[in-house]
Amino acid sequence: MTLPMSDPRLVPIAQKVEAGERLSRDDARVCFETSDLLSLGALADSANRRKNGNQVFFAANQHINPTNVCVLRHTCVFCSFARTAKEEGAYTRSLDEVFAEAEAAADNPTREFHIVGGLHPRLRLSYYADLIRGLKERHPDVHVKALTAVEIAHLARIERTTTRRVLEELKAAGLDTLPGGGAEVFGAAVRATIADRKLVAEDWLRVHREAHELGIPSNCTMLYGHVETIQDRVEHLAMLRDLQDETRGFLTYIPLAYHPDHNELGRELGREGTATTGMDDLKNVAVGRLFLDNVAHVKTHWPMVTAFVSQVALHFGCDDVEGTVVYERVYHEAGAHTPMALSYGDVVRLIRGAGKEPVERDSFYRPVRQFAPDDPIFTPVATPAASAHAEAELVQLVGTGRA
Ligand code: SF4
Repeated sequence: MTLPMSDPRLVPIAQKVEAGERLSRDDARVCFETSDLLSLGALADSANRRKNGNQVFFAANQHINPTNVCVLRHTCVFCSFARTAKEEGAYTRSLDEVFAEAEAAADNPTREFHIVGGLHPRLRLSYYADLIRGLKERHPDVHVKALTAVEIAHLARIERTTTRRVLEELKAAGLDTLPGGGAEVFGAAVRATIADRKLVAEDWLRVHREAHELGIPSNCTMLYGHVETIQDRVEHLAMLRDLQDETRGFLTYIPLAYHPDHNELGRELGREGTATTGMDDLKNVAVGRLFLDNVAHVKTHWPMVTAFVSQVALHFGCDDVEGTVVYERVYHEAGAHTPMALSYGDVVRLIRGAGKEPVERDSFYRPVRQFAPDDPIFTPVATPAASAHAEAELVQLVGTGRA
Protein backbone atom coordinates (compact mmCIF):
# COMPACT_ATOMS: atom_id res chain seq x y z
CA MET A 1 0.00 0.00 0.00
CA THR A 2 1.92 3.04 -1.20
CA LEU A 3 -0.78 5.67 -1.08
CA PRO A 4 -0.02 8.32 1.56
CA MET A 5 -2.76 8.03 4.15
CA SER A 6 -4.19 11.17 5.63
CA ASP A 7 -5.86 9.20 8.43
CA PRO A 8 -3.21 7.43 10.54
CA ARG A 9 -5.86 5.13 11.99
CA LEU A 10 -5.96 3.38 8.61
CA VAL A 11 -2.30 2.34 8.75
CA PRO A 12 -2.72 -0.71 11.04
CA ILE A 13 -5.84 -1.64 9.10
CA ALA A 14 -3.85 -1.53 5.87
CA GLN A 15 -1.26 -3.82 7.45
CA LYS A 16 -3.97 -6.30 8.37
CA VAL A 17 -5.46 -6.18 4.87
CA GLU A 18 -2.05 -6.78 3.35
CA ALA A 19 -1.43 -9.72 5.68
CA GLY A 20 -4.88 -11.15 4.95
CA GLU A 21 -5.91 -10.79 8.60
CA ARG A 22 -9.51 -10.36 9.67
CA LEU A 23 -10.64 -6.85 10.60
CA SER A 24 -12.14 -6.23 14.03
CA ARG A 25 -15.34 -4.35 14.78
CA ASP A 26 -13.22 -1.35 15.83
CA ASP A 27 -11.45 -1.47 12.47
CA ALA A 28 -14.80 -1.42 10.69
CA ARG A 29 -15.90 1.55 12.78
CA VAL A 30 -12.74 3.45 11.80
CA CYS A 31 -13.36 2.62 8.14
CA PHE A 32 -16.88 4.08 8.37
CA GLU A 33 -15.63 7.16 10.22
CA THR A 34 -12.63 8.05 8.09
CA SER A 35 -12.77 10.83 5.54
CA ASP A 36 -9.76 9.35 3.72
CA LEU A 37 -12.04 7.79 1.15
CA LEU A 38 -9.39 7.11 -1.47
CA SER A 39 -7.16 5.15 0.92
CA LEU A 40 -10.17 3.17 2.10
CA GLY A 41 -11.11 2.47 -1.52
CA ALA A 42 -7.57 1.37 -2.37
CA LEU A 43 -7.60 -1.09 0.54
CA ALA A 44 -10.95 -2.52 -0.50
CA ASP A 45 -9.79 -2.70 -4.11
CA SER A 46 -6.73 -4.70 -3.14
CA ALA A 47 -8.85 -7.07 -1.01
CA ASN A 48 -11.22 -7.51 -3.93
CA ARG A 49 -8.47 -8.07 -6.49
CA ARG A 50 -7.05 -10.84 -4.33
CA LYS A 51 -10.40 -12.64 -4.54
CA ASN A 52 -11.65 -11.74 -8.01
CA GLY A 53 -8.75 -10.28 -9.98
CA ASN A 54 -9.86 -7.70 -12.52
CA GLN A 55 -13.13 -9.49 -13.28
CA VAL A 56 -16.52 -7.93 -12.68
CA PHE A 57 -19.57 -10.17 -12.84
CA PHE A 58 -23.11 -9.43 -13.90
CA ALA A 59 -26.20 -11.54 -14.51
CA ALA A 60 -28.78 -10.86 -17.17
CA ASN A 61 -31.77 -10.84 -14.88
CA GLN A 62 -35.40 -9.87 -14.81
CA HIS A 63 -37.13 -8.56 -11.69
CA ILE A 64 -40.65 -9.77 -11.06
CA ASN A 65 -42.76 -8.35 -8.22
CA PRO A 66 -45.96 -10.45 -8.10
CA THR A 67 -47.79 -8.22 -5.59
CA ASN A 68 -47.29 -4.98 -3.71
CA VAL A 69 -50.00 -5.77 -1.16
CA CYS A 70 -48.37 -6.13 2.22
CA VAL A 71 -49.58 -6.66 5.76
CA LEU A 72 -46.70 -4.53 7.05
CA ARG A 73 -47.68 -1.56 4.88
CA HIS A 74 -48.06 0.75 7.88
CA THR A 75 -45.13 -0.42 10.00
CA CYS A 76 -42.22 -0.56 7.52
CA VAL A 77 -42.07 3.22 7.41
CA PHE A 78 -39.12 3.30 5.00
CA CYS A 79 -41.00 1.36 2.29
CA SER A 80 -42.55 3.11 -0.70
CA PHE A 81 -43.52 -0.04 -2.54
CA ALA A 82 -46.21 -1.62 -0.36
CA ARG A 83 -49.95 -0.91 -0.46
CA THR A 84 -52.93 -2.16 1.50
CA ALA A 85 -55.28 -4.35 -0.54
CA LYS A 86 -57.77 -1.51 -1.15
CA GLU A 87 -55.29 1.31 -1.58
CA GLU A 88 -54.86 3.03 -4.92
CA GLY A 89 -52.08 1.40 -6.90
CA ALA A 90 -52.40 -1.97 -5.17
CA TYR A 91 -51.93 -4.91 -7.51
CA THR A 92 -51.67 -8.67 -7.38
CA ARG A 93 -50.75 -10.61 -10.48
CA SER A 94 -52.41 -13.85 -11.44
CA LEU A 95 -50.04 -16.66 -12.36
CA ASP A 96 -50.86 -16.13 -16.02
CA GLU A 97 -49.97 -12.46 -15.74
CA VAL A 98 -46.64 -13.31 -14.16
CA PHE A 99 -45.93 -15.89 -16.87
CA ALA A 100 -46.82 -13.30 -19.53
CA GLU A 101 -44.47 -10.76 -17.94
CA ALA A 102 -41.73 -13.37 -17.83
CA GLU A 103 -42.12 -14.04 -21.56
CA ALA A 104 -39.75 -11.12 -22.07
CA ALA A 105 -37.07 -13.62 -21.05
CA ALA A 106 -37.77 -15.75 -24.10
CA ASP A 107 -36.15 -13.38 -26.60
CA ASN A 108 -33.19 -12.14 -24.61
CA PRO A 109 -30.32 -13.62 -22.64
CA THR A 110 -32.11 -13.56 -19.25
CA ARG A 111 -30.63 -16.14 -16.93
CA GLU A 112 -32.23 -15.23 -13.64
CA PHE A 113 -35.66 -14.23 -12.37
CA HIS A 114 -35.43 -12.14 -9.23
CA ILE A 115 -38.81 -12.42 -7.52
CA VAL A 116 -39.81 -10.44 -4.42
CA GLY A 117 -42.98 -8.70 -3.31
CA GLY A 118 -45.24 -7.76 -0.43
CA LEU A 119 -46.53 -10.02 2.34
CA HIS A 120 -49.96 -10.64 0.87
CA PRO A 121 -52.52 -11.74 3.47
CA ARG A 122 -54.08 -14.37 1.22
CA LEU A 123 -51.53 -15.61 -1.30
CA ARG A 124 -50.70 -19.14 -0.20
CA LEU A 125 -47.57 -21.20 -0.50
CA SER A 126 -49.18 -23.06 -3.41
CA TYR A 127 -49.31 -19.79 -5.42
CA TYR A 128 -45.56 -19.28 -5.07
CA ALA A 129 -44.74 -22.97 -5.64
CA ASP A 130 -46.90 -22.96 -8.80
CA LEU A 131 -45.32 -19.68 -9.88
CA ILE A 132 -41.78 -21.05 -9.56
CA ARG A 133 -42.71 -24.38 -11.13
CA GLY A 134 -44.45 -22.65 -14.01
CA LEU A 135 -41.50 -20.37 -14.68
CA LYS A 136 -39.13 -23.33 -14.63
CA GLU A 137 -41.31 -25.25 -17.09
CA ARG A 138 -41.43 -22.30 -19.47
CA HIS A 139 -37.82 -21.18 -19.02
CA PRO A 140 -35.83 -24.24 -17.92
CA ASP A 141 -32.46 -22.51 -18.32
CA VAL A 142 -33.35 -19.51 -16.17
CA HIS A 143 -32.47 -19.63 -12.46
CA VAL A 144 -35.06 -18.58 -9.93
CA LYS A 145 -33.97 -16.36 -7.06
CA ALA A 146 -37.11 -15.79 -5.06
CA LEU A 147 -38.62 -14.60 -1.78
CA THR A 148 -36.81 -12.89 1.04
CA ALA A 149 -36.50 -14.47 4.48
CA VAL A 150 -39.35 -12.17 5.53
CA GLU A 151 -41.62 -13.60 2.83
CA ILE A 152 -40.62 -17.16 3.70
CA ALA A 153 -41.49 -16.55 7.37
CA HIS A 154 -44.81 -14.93 6.36
CA LEU A 155 -45.76 -17.99 4.28
CA ALA A 156 -44.84 -20.28 7.17
CA ARG A 157 -47.16 -18.26 9.42
CA ILE A 158 -50.04 -18.40 6.91
CA GLU A 159 -49.59 -22.12 6.38
CA ARG A 160 -49.03 -22.82 10.10
CA THR A 161 -45.85 -24.67 9.29
CA THR A 162 -42.11 -24.14 9.65
CA THR A 163 -39.87 -21.97 7.54
CA ARG A 164 -37.82 -25.07 6.77
CA ARG A 165 -40.89 -26.79 5.34
CA VAL A 166 -41.65 -23.73 3.15
CA LEU A 167 -38.09 -23.72 1.86
CA GLU A 168 -38.25 -27.44 1.11
CA GLU A 169 -41.47 -27.04 -0.88
CA LEU A 170 -40.14 -24.10 -2.85
CA LYS A 171 -36.90 -25.91 -3.54
CA ALA A 172 -38.85 -28.90 -4.83
CA ALA A 173 -40.71 -26.47 -7.14
CA GLY A 174 -37.42 -25.16 -8.54
CA LEU A 175 -36.17 -22.41 -6.23
CA ASP A 176 -32.43 -21.98 -6.77
CA THR A 177 -31.37 -19.16 -4.46
CA LEU A 178 -32.78 -16.64 -1.99
CA PRO A 179 -32.34 -12.88 -2.33
CA GLY A 180 -30.90 -11.01 0.64
CA GLY A 181 -33.65 -8.44 1.24
CA GLY A 182 -35.50 -7.81 4.47
CA ALA A 183 -32.36 -7.64 6.60
CA GLU A 184 -32.46 -3.79 6.71
CA VAL A 185 -30.38 -3.14 9.87
CA PHE A 186 -30.53 -5.85 12.52
CA GLY A 187 -30.27 -3.65 15.63
CA ALA A 188 -33.47 -3.88 17.70
CA ALA A 189 -33.76 -0.11 18.19
CA VAL A 190 -33.40 0.58 14.46
CA ARG A 191 -35.89 -2.12 13.59
CA ALA A 192 -38.38 -0.77 16.12
CA THR A 193 -38.08 2.62 14.44
CA ILE A 194 -38.17 1.73 10.75
CA ALA A 195 -39.61 -1.78 10.54
CA ASP A 196 -41.53 -2.62 13.67
CA ARG A 197 -43.21 -6.06 13.42
CA LYS A 198 -40.81 -7.21 10.71
CA LEU A 199 -38.95 -10.50 11.14
CA VAL A 200 -36.34 -9.97 13.88
CA ALA A 201 -32.63 -10.41 13.25
CA GLU A 202 -32.33 -13.87 14.78
CA ASP A 203 -35.20 -15.17 12.66
CA TRP A 204 -33.86 -13.57 9.45
CA LEU A 205 -30.54 -15.30 10.12
CA ARG A 206 -32.26 -18.59 11.00
CA VAL A 207 -34.15 -18.67 7.68
CA HIS A 208 -30.91 -18.12 5.79
CA ARG A 209 -29.16 -20.77 7.90
CA GLU A 210 -31.93 -23.23 7.05
CA ALA A 211 -31.72 -22.34 3.37
CA HIS A 212 -27.98 -22.91 3.37
CA GLU A 213 -28.42 -26.25 5.11
CA LEU A 214 -30.90 -27.26 2.39
CA GLY A 215 -28.41 -26.35 -0.34
CA ILE A 216 -30.06 -23.03 -1.24
CA PRO A 217 -27.40 -20.31 -1.33
CA SER A 218 -28.48 -16.74 -0.65
CA ASN A 219 -27.40 -13.12 -0.67
CA CYS A 220 -27.08 -10.77 2.27
CA THR A 221 -27.78 -7.05 2.45
CA MET A 222 -27.81 -3.97 4.66
CA LEU A 223 -30.10 -0.98 4.08
CA TYR A 224 -28.06 2.08 5.07
CA GLY A 225 -28.60 5.80 5.20
CA HIS A 226 -31.67 6.23 7.47
CA VAL A 227 -31.54 6.30 11.29
CA GLU A 228 -28.79 3.75 11.92
CA THR A 229 -25.52 4.60 13.66
CA ILE A 230 -22.08 3.42 12.61
CA GLN A 231 -22.18 0.98 15.52
CA ASP A 232 -25.45 -0.44 14.20
CA ARG A 233 -23.83 -0.99 10.80
CA VAL A 234 -20.83 -2.73 12.32
CA GLU A 235 -22.95 -5.04 14.47
CA HIS A 236 -25.10 -5.89 11.45
CA LEU A 237 -22.08 -6.81 9.34
CA ALA A 238 -20.64 -8.84 12.22
CA MET A 239 -23.84 -10.91 12.45
CA LEU A 240 -23.67 -11.62 8.72
CA ARG A 241 -19.99 -12.57 8.99
CA ASP A 242 -20.68 -14.92 11.91
CA LEU A 243 -23.37 -16.78 9.98
CA GLN A 244 -21.13 -17.02 6.95
CA ASP A 245 -18.38 -18.55 9.12
CA GLU A 246 -20.91 -21.17 10.09
CA THR A 247 -22.56 -22.01 6.76
CA ARG A 248 -20.58 -20.48 3.85
CA GLY A 249 -23.95 -20.06 2.14
CA PHE A 250 -23.86 -16.35 1.28
CA LEU A 251 -22.86 -15.70 -2.31
CA THR A 252 -22.86 -11.90 -2.30
CA TYR A 253 -23.12 -8.93 0.00
CA ILE A 254 -25.18 -6.01 -1.34
CA PRO A 255 -25.25 -2.65 0.47
CA LEU A 256 -28.61 -1.02 -0.30
CA ALA A 257 -29.07 2.75 -0.19
CA TYR A 258 -32.21 4.07 1.51
CA HIS A 259 -34.40 6.25 -0.73
CA PRO A 260 -36.54 8.73 1.24
CA ASP A 261 -39.20 9.69 -1.31
CA HIS A 262 -42.83 8.63 -0.97
CA ASN A 263 -42.48 7.04 2.44
CA GLU A 264 -43.33 8.05 5.99
CA LEU A 265 -39.77 7.87 7.27
CA GLY A 266 -38.50 10.23 4.58
CA ARG A 267 -41.24 12.72 5.44
CA GLU A 268 -40.56 12.45 9.18
CA LEU A 269 -36.85 12.94 8.69
CA GLY A 270 -37.47 15.85 6.31
CA ARG A 271 -35.35 14.07 3.75
CA GLU A 272 -37.71 13.86 0.77
CA GLY A 273 -36.00 14.70 -2.49
CA THR A 274 -32.58 13.76 -1.12
CA ALA A 275 -30.46 10.64 -1.49
CA THR A 276 -27.50 9.02 0.20
CA THR A 277 -24.20 10.70 -0.61
CA GLY A 278 -21.67 9.28 -3.02
CA MET A 279 -19.21 9.25 -0.13
CA ASP A 280 -21.46 7.03 1.97
CA ASP A 281 -22.36 4.82 -0.99
CA LEU A 282 -18.70 4.13 -1.68
CA LYS A 283 -17.82 3.68 1.99
CA ASN A 284 -20.52 1.07 2.41
CA VAL A 285 -19.15 -0.88 -0.51
CA ALA A 286 -15.57 -0.64 0.72
CA VAL A 287 -16.28 -1.55 4.34
CA GLY A 288 -18.43 -4.47 3.21
CA ARG A 289 -15.56 -5.78 1.10
CA LEU A 290 -12.99 -5.35 3.86
CA PHE A 291 -15.02 -6.64 6.81
CA LEU A 292 -16.86 -9.55 5.14
CA ASP A 293 -13.67 -11.40 4.31
CA ASN A 294 -15.57 -14.69 4.03
CA VAL A 295 -18.09 -13.53 1.39
CA ALA A 296 -16.75 -13.96 -2.13
CA HIS A 297 -18.58 -11.11 -3.86
CA VAL A 298 -19.80 -7.57 -3.22
CA LYS A 299 -22.43 -6.16 -5.54
CA THR A 300 -23.24 -2.58 -6.45
CA HIS A 301 -26.92 -2.00 -7.04
CA TRP A 302 -27.08 0.67 -9.74
CA PRO A 303 -30.86 1.29 -9.57
CA MET A 304 -30.24 2.72 -6.08
CA VAL A 305 -26.94 4.58 -6.42
CA THR A 306 -26.90 5.39 -10.17
CA ALA A 307 -24.83 3.71 -12.84
CA PHE A 308 -22.17 6.41 -12.39
CA VAL A 309 -21.53 5.63 -8.71
CA SER A 310 -21.72 1.91 -9.49
CA GLN A 311 -18.96 2.31 -12.05
CA VAL A 312 -16.71 4.04 -9.49
CA ALA A 313 -17.62 1.39 -6.90
CA LEU A 314 -15.82 -1.14 -9.10
CA HIS A 315 -12.62 0.47 -7.76
CA PHE A 316 -13.87 0.41 -4.16
CA GLY A 317 -14.17 -3.34 -3.70
CA CYS A 318 -17.11 -4.31 -5.91
CA ASP A 319 -16.81 -7.21 -8.30
CA ASP A 320 -20.47 -7.55 -9.24
CA VAL A 321 -22.96 -5.21 -10.88
CA GLU A 322 -26.71 -5.58 -10.67
CA GLY A 323 -27.80 -7.00 -13.99
CA THR A 324 -30.14 -5.82 -16.68
CA VAL A 325 -33.25 -5.57 -14.43
CA VAL A 326 -36.01 -5.60 -17.02
CA TYR A 327 -38.47 -3.91 -14.69
CA GLU A 328 -37.65 -2.58 -11.24
CA ARG A 329 -40.50 -1.26 -9.09
CA VAL A 330 -39.32 -1.35 -5.49
CA TYR A 331 -36.78 1.48 -5.53
CA HIS A 332 -38.43 3.54 -8.21
CA GLU A 333 -41.51 3.85 -6.01
CA ALA A 334 -39.11 5.31 -3.44
CA GLY A 335 -37.89 7.98 -5.80
CA ALA A 336 -34.87 6.41 -7.49
CA HIS A 337 -34.20 8.51 -10.61
CA THR A 338 -32.14 5.87 -12.38
CA PRO A 339 -33.41 4.28 -15.60
CA MET A 340 -35.72 1.31 -15.11
CA ALA A 341 -33.37 -0.96 -17.00
CA LEU A 342 -29.94 -1.06 -18.54
CA SER A 343 -29.53 -3.09 -21.67
CA TYR A 344 -27.13 -6.02 -21.75
CA GLY A 345 -24.65 -3.92 -23.74
CA ASP A 346 -25.01 -0.98 -21.31
CA VAL A 347 -23.94 -3.16 -18.40
CA VAL A 348 -21.01 -4.65 -20.32
CA ARG A 349 -19.80 -1.22 -21.39
CA LEU A 350 -20.26 0.21 -17.88
CA ILE A 351 -17.87 -2.47 -16.55
CA ARG A 352 -15.45 -2.16 -19.44
CA GLY A 353 -15.48 1.63 -19.06
CA ALA A 354 -14.12 1.18 -15.54
CA GLY A 355 -11.15 -0.73 -16.96
CA LYS A 356 -12.50 -4.08 -15.71
CA GLU A 357 -13.19 -7.38 -17.46
CA PRO A 358 -16.93 -8.03 -17.72
CA VAL A 359 -18.01 -11.63 -17.10
CA GLU A 360 -21.60 -12.66 -17.52
CA ARG A 361 -22.41 -15.18 -14.80
CA ASP A 362 -25.23 -17.44 -13.73
CA SER A 363 -26.83 -17.31 -10.28
CA PHE A 364 -24.01 -19.40 -8.82
CA TYR A 365 -21.23 -17.17 -10.24
CA ARG A 366 -20.28 -19.67 -12.92
CA PRO A 367 -19.01 -17.75 -15.96
CA VAL A 368 -21.42 -17.82 -18.88
CA ARG A 369 -19.77 -15.42 -21.30
CA GLN A 370 -16.52 -13.47 -21.44
CA PHE A 371 -15.62 -10.78 -23.92
CA ALA A 372 -12.52 -10.49 -26.11
CA PRO A 373 -11.01 -6.96 -26.16
CA ASP A 374 -12.19 -6.49 -29.76
CA ASP A 375 -15.73 -7.70 -29.12
CA PRO A 376 -18.13 -5.45 -31.10
CA ILE A 377 -20.18 -4.98 -27.93
CA PHE A 378 -17.52 -2.54 -26.73
CA THR A 379 -18.22 -0.17 -29.61
CA PRO A 380 -19.15 3.04 -27.82
CA VAL A 381 -22.88 3.67 -27.66
CA ALA A 382 -24.28 6.71 -25.90
CA THR A 383 -25.57 5.27 -22.64
CA PRO A 384 -28.59 7.58 -22.32
CA ALA A 385 -29.79 6.58 -25.77
CA ALA A 386 -29.36 2.92 -24.98
CA SER A 387 -31.23 3.35 -21.73
CA ALA A 388 -33.95 5.35 -23.40
CA HIS A 389 -34.36 2.47 -25.82
CA ALA A 390 -34.70 0.05 -22.93
CA GLU A 391 -37.23 2.33 -21.30
CA ALA A 392 -39.20 2.61 -24.52
CA GLU A 393 -39.44 -1.17 -24.56
CA LEU A 394 -40.70 -1.04 -21.01
CA VAL A 395 -43.33 1.51 -21.86
CA GLN A 396 -44.55 -0.95 -24.46
CA LEU A 397 -44.67 -3.69 -21.86
CA VAL A 398 -46.59 -1.51 -19.45
CA GLY A 399 -48.91 -0.47 -22.26
CA THR A 400 -49.84 -4.08 -22.91
CA GLY A 401 -50.45 -4.70 -19.24
CA ARG A 402 -47.54 -7.12 -19.02
CA ALA A 403 -45.41 -5.20 -16.53
S1 SF4 B 1 -40.43 -3.51 3.20
FE1 SF4 B 1 -41.31 -5.46 2.52
S2 SF4 B 1 -42.39 -6.25 4.32
FE2 SF4 B 1 -42.06 -4.05 4.68
S3 SF4 B 1 -43.91 -3.03 3.89
FE3 SF4 B 1 -42.41 -3.03 2.21
S4 SF4 B 1 -42.92 -4.89 1.05
FE4 SF4 B 1 -43.87 -5.10 3.08
